[in-house]
Amino acid sequence: MYIVQIASECAPVIKAGGLGDVIYGLSRELENRGHCVEIILPMYDCMRYDHIWGLHEAYRDLWVPWDNGQVHCSVFCGWVHGRLCFFIRPHSDQNFFDRGIYYGSTDDHMRFAFFSKAALEFLLVANKRPDIIHCHDWQTGLIPVMLYEMYAYHGMDRQRICYTIHNFKHQGIAGADVLHATGLNREDYYFQYDKLRDNFNPFAINYMKGGIVYSNYVNTVSPHHAWEARFSGISYGLGHTLELHQGKFGGILNGIDYDVWNPEVDRYLPHHYSSTTFAEKQKNKQALRDRLMLSDDHDKPIVAYIGRLDDQKGVHLVHHAIYYTLHRGGQFVLLGSATEPGINAYFQHEKYYLNDNSDCHLELGFNEELSHLIYAGADMIVVPSNYEPCGLTQVIGLKYGVVPIVRGVGGLVNTVFDWDYDQERTPEERNGFVFYQTDPHALESAMGRSFDLWYNNPDLFRKLAIQGMECDNSWNLPGEQYMSVYEHIRA
Ligand code: ADP
Repeated sequence: MYIVQIASECAPVIKAGGLGDVIYGLSRELENRGHCVEIILPMYDCMRYDHIWGLHEAYRDLWVPWDNGQVHCSVFCGWVHGRLCFFIRPHSDQNFFDRGIYYGSTDDHMRFAFFSKAALEFLLVANKRPDIIHCHDWQTGLIPVMLYEMYAYHGMDRQRICYTIHNFKHQGIAGADVLHATGLNREDYYFQYDKLRDNFNPFAINYMKGGIVYSNYVNTVSPHHAWEARFSGISYGLGHTLELHQGKFGGILNGIDYDVWNPEVDRYLPHHYSSTTFAEKQKNKQALRDRLMLSDDHDKPIVAYIGRLDDQKGVHLVHHAIYYTLHRGGQFVLLGSATEPGINAYFQHEKYYLNDNSDCHLELGFNEELSHLIYAGADMIVVPSNYEPCGLTQVIGLKYGVVPIVRGVGGLVNTVFDWDYDQERTPEERNGFVFYQTDPHALESAMGRSFDLWYNNPDLFRKLAIQGMECDNSWNLPGEQYMSVYEHIRA
């Protein structure tokens, strides 16, 4: 099958969070199954060019119809750790992708509407006719709309679309100007509730809603979050739309790429280890302490948090976890970046306050290399999210023998099974600690059980960590599930 992934990220060349990991890992899995996969991405100025091999101009003159005119683009092509990627580079005064950031400009809705249009135009003029176009998140929500309403009439009527929602919070809200810029026009038509009109803002169109309405199949990234999206109001106003389209909506759990996230082969680790050589993990713990200048006078457990510092992630509980860990005699390592100035200031203050504490290190920013060492060196990882479509840090943690302590929401429910209380799993299948409420006591109840096990029964704690390493969270099963979706919609 010929599959084209269109997205705003692909790790490690463009990565702000889990979306990047998924685009890379899923594409690799599909290729391993013998399919032809290509990835279309924006060509940002700030992406990691050192992870692209053989970058060259593949298509010099792509003229993209835009705003009653045309924008001249080039398409570059290169291999990102074996994956064939096409990067779209517009030459326009708006400098859509030359902003030094991936997201966060005031005209993001225009930048990604343009990217969507350019990606389709590239497929059209380069005569690429994939069986499946797989689009991801709000940034590409207009692709199914434009494919069905415009490009189908230019000979692209056999392409089928799978649309994956990685986060309902960001939906792509815009005014009628986007309809005119993309050439969709027909305001009266698209501003209907069964088309693109936002369910709550009558003056806006909603890209993600467009993606849901026009795609052949829609999924979010875990079965439990798919259920939450429909029944618990977590879908930020799209529940009714999902209800109408329930026949083509489901949840497929993300996997992780075990060639990238695997302590046996991880190229960023000073010491490799597996579940059978678990003692070697201790050397990475020492390397992490040395690197972050943490004290090593006692063997204290290291608790980690890795992730965006965003409301979604339960930042008040992340903050509480730092002090609870110190209170229980552990060490805490945080690696996170905040885009919201208030949250950033909050953690900057905390970093300053804890600066001289040799049991704590807060690293504010994005650092892929350091994240690998933290997974390898930590003993526990906290994921106290308010909601979590899938969550990758707990799954990566499991593979690195880090015991996850998570809130029981979204994909965390599908991947972490409580050591003491999970009734549906055998004791051998349990791999972490789960709490449910959003108050500090709930977090403490789960962290406390983890600390108790660490201090009182280290052999059992090691057993729990090793059980986690043996869970299969590879792309094998999700790859199979995506293939059945593709086959279903193609038929
Ligand atoms: P998100 O909601 O951000 O997609 P996920 O848990 O699904 O969260 O995925 C997070 C991914 O991003 C993981 O690979 C994690 O290691 C990585 N990550 C998050 N924050 C950082 C950071 N500050 N530095 C390095 N890697 C990070």
